Amino acid sequence: MKQTPQEKKIQENMQPGVITLNGFLGNDNRHYQDIIDEDRRTLERLSITPGEIADRLQYFADLAWDSYDAPIIIDEFYQVEYKSYRGKIPCPFPHAGRYPKGTITLKNLNCGKEICWTPLNIHMIREHCFFEGKGSPHRIEPSEVMKILFK
Ligand SMILES: [Zn+2]
Repeated sequence: MKQTPQEKKIQENMQPGVITLNGFLGNDNRHYQDIIDEDRRTLERLSITPGEIADRLQYFADLAWDSYDAPIIIDEFYQVEYKSYRGKIPCPFPHAGRYPKGTITLKNLNCGKEICWTPLNIHMIREHCFFEGKGSPHRIEPSEVMKILFK
């Protein structure tokens, strides 16, 4: 695959130890653009947009933000916990903007499934349609998200 210098830089930023300890690609050997393309197709099949998923993740993050690091129940069966840390982190894509460090963990008490994301994930999904590589700790599987967040 022929890469532009900018794409090469982005791919480098996603490696472990550059922006975050674990990086953004997990054990996924694909180029980040191929990951985005496949996830975009999945979203089209599910008839949902990255913006709708980002809005839903932001909705839970905003409500859990005030919980002072203790889990809260939102809308009857979503157990959500926001853990915040000092500091900010840049996006691996080239533009100005830094995102608060922190993790939001949500457990759907109906199905028992859990997902975990960061403020940066919300941004990357909304602006770049990037859900991270398979095996990455904060990979959000678009098809799983539908079952966990919208039911
Ligand atoms: Zn970005």
